[in-house]
Amino acid sequence: MTIKIRAFLDILNFRFVDANNDGKAILSDAKSEEDTKKKRKQIRCPLCGWQPDGKPYWMCEKCFAVFDTFKTHAHCPAPKCGNSWAYTQCIACHQQSLHEKWYENVEI
Ligand SMILES: [Zn+2]
Ligand SMILES: [Zn+2]
Repeated sequence: MTIKIRAFLDILNFRFVDANNDGKAILSDAKSEEDTKKKRKQIRCPLCGWQPDGKPYWMCEKCFAVFDTFKTHAHCPAPKCGNSWAYTQCIACHQQSLHEKWYENVEI
């Protein structure tokens, strides 16, 4: 009984390999999916590794607007304010790092 099941699986594997060799469309689809994964960006504190969760933890000292600085790329969201920051303070460790250093490319 087990031998028969094993043989059936071997046939399936063989067909799968054949389909991959012939199906160029399937292969190119898989490749584009890989590319988007490689381009994925991760945001985290370069000092302690804390990851922002999309909540508005930051406040503008000019107009007191409260916002998520990673949604606005360190710019104040108030249209008439125009304030922006080179450094972003971490909510977890309270240290400041260059805003650009928070962005990290993740390769999978
Ligand atoms: Zn931190
Ligand atoms: Zn502002």
